[in-house]
Amino acid sequence: MKHKKYSAVIVGSGIAGLYAAIKLEKEANLSDGILIITKTQLIESNSKYAQGGMVCVMPENKLDSTTLHIEDTLKAGAGLTDESVAEFISKNSAGVVKELQSFGVDFDRDENNKLKFTKEAAHSVNRILHAGGDATGFCIENALVKYVLERKNIDIYEQTLAVELLKDKNNVIKGLISYNCNTNQYEIIEAPAVILATGGIGQLYRYTTNPDITTGDGIALAYRAGAVVKDMEFVQFHPTAFALTDKGTMFLISEAVRGEGAKLVDKSGKTFMEKYDERLELAPRDVVTRAIYHEMAKTGASNVYLDATHISEEKFEKRFPTIYATCKEYNINPSKDYIPVSPSAHYFMGGIKTKVDGTTSLEGLYAIGEASCTGLHGANRLASNSILECAVTAYELVNLLKTKTLINNFTEDEEIQKTIKMYDEDLDKTKVDTNKIFAEIKNIMWQDVGIIRNEEMLLKAKKEISLLKDDFAHLYKCADRNCYEIRNMLTVASLITDFALKRKESRGAHFREDYPQCDPEAKSQQISRFAEMKG
Ligand SMILES: Cc1cc2nc3c(=O)[nH]c(=O)nc-3n(C[C@H](O)[C@H](O)[C@H](O)COP(=O)(O)OP(=O)(O)OC[C@H]3O[C@@H](n4cnc5c(N)ncnc54)[C@H](O)[C@@H]3O)c2cc1C
Repeated sequence: MKHKKYSAVIVGSGIAGLYAAIKLEKEANLSDGILIITKTQLIESNSKYAQGGMVCVMPENKLDSTTLHIEDTLKAGAGLTDESVAEFISKNSAGVVKELQSFGVDFDRDENNKLKFTKEAAHSVNRILHAGGDATGFCIENALVKYVLERKNIDIYEQTLAVELLKDKNNVIKGLISYNCNTNQYEIIEAPAVILATGGIGQLYRYTTNPDITTGDGIALAYRAGAVVKDMEFVQFHPTAFALTDKGTMFLISEAVRGEGAKLVDKSGKTFMEKYDERLELAPRDVVTRAIYHEMAKTGASNVYLDATHISEEKFEKRFPTIYATCKEYNINPSKDYIPVSPSAHYFMGGIKTKVDGTTSLEGLYAIGEASCTGLHGANRLASNSILECAVTAYELVNLLKTKTLINNFTEDEEIQKTIKMYDEDLDKTKVDTNKIFAEIKNIMWQDVGIIRNEEMLLKAKKEISLLKDDFAHLYKCADRNCYEIRNMLTVASLITDFALKRKESRGAHFREDYPQCDPEAKSQQISRFAEMKG
């Protein structure tokens, strides 16, 4: 197998990975340069699809303060947010926005050239920056991609997967094995800093707003190497995905549309949120999601509707150009027609346990962005806090790495040799119907580890996932990208199910109908492959 040496390898090219690459290249002393590995094209990521915006507490926004933002984040996190993390991230928001601007990101401004702030559910004031109207993620990602492509010290592998971490006998991560999906070539990447910025897990569910790269790879890789993972039961379901396509990957109708006064209605145009929560359409996401779920279950309908007809067509198109264009593609005029919506898996609060500087429980391994769990989101994420977390964790990781000498001291000890040998061997040629397994995992997770959970459902899911694991024999070298993804999805699906079984209460995004109350004594849960679950 070919070997390559880098000062740092970054897996993932969403906002977290690209931000880290740019800052590291600018500020650290790198004798061997940086490698970015990404599953498909550089721009393809969850980040690209973010609509609403990015939280920023700016001194010029006189109504806002970090105290207020921290309060809102703690409320959304339902008792499990780490307050010191929320404080750190909030206090650094203005700094990272400035830095993003220096990397070429333009946030929307008003006629006086002042940054525009908007509001989303559970925020007490307008504090969300946006770009391109409702194309914030695309605009940020696009600017960062452009910047990275101009850097000589950053190499890029597209259509390439990280498939295994290389850990030596002292439990230090020394690099990884990559797999090029086009050439089927494997390579050993030696690096003193391995940074996982692999994003979320939406594709584990039948319906999701996430693109098809989100199969929890980084979390599975880290867990298999022995890193601690945390808060794995907390999956956020977005209440309003566009229900007209029958594809599993659904277009998002941003919360900001409800922020502009749109109402949720049944097919006869009757509102229903008043039966569930006094905050109506702007109640927290988990509350609105469960309300829609109950309405759909009661009537047997496959969706409800969003009534935004009070907004003129001109205003809707200007404020929500992407949503407007997608609705029009399906012959829906949002200022005249109801928009069909239903819930969909959207964001993962859990992940690889890290500090705000991305350090994990394993030396040499770092995780940032949605793949990590810093403790900011607790049991539920406050809208638009995730891009902020991507930026602040990337920023802080680089501040840490630039104090270190990133010199390669890779030696193939017996542990590393053992791992490499498994990828040197011939492929396991057993034919697997990957589409069938994808569908099975997604159905199990959607039906039994989804919006509403109970012991019986979770035990059924545990058993079914375990049977799928037994049938799927590709423990090491796999045949193709799909097999690698299935291997990772099965690892993450079991973790989510086990964590959900252990949490015998309802809190934030985790709702157990057999334990509908919150247990004030319950804490965050965490586990590593080599230790019992703690919590
Ligand atoms: C429709 C939608 C709307 C959203 N709106 C908002 C919003 O308004 N505000 C907000 O704050 N958040 C929003 N979010 C959430 C936010 O976009 C994400 O949490 C954030 O962008 C994650 O960034 P990331 O860099 O951690 O990961 P991602 O952007 O998901 O990037 C992950 C990268 O890792 C790569 N990768 C994965 N596995 C491997 C592997 N094995 N090998 C190599 N590469 C791999 C992928 O190809 C990708 O490049 C939204 C999400 C969605 C889906």
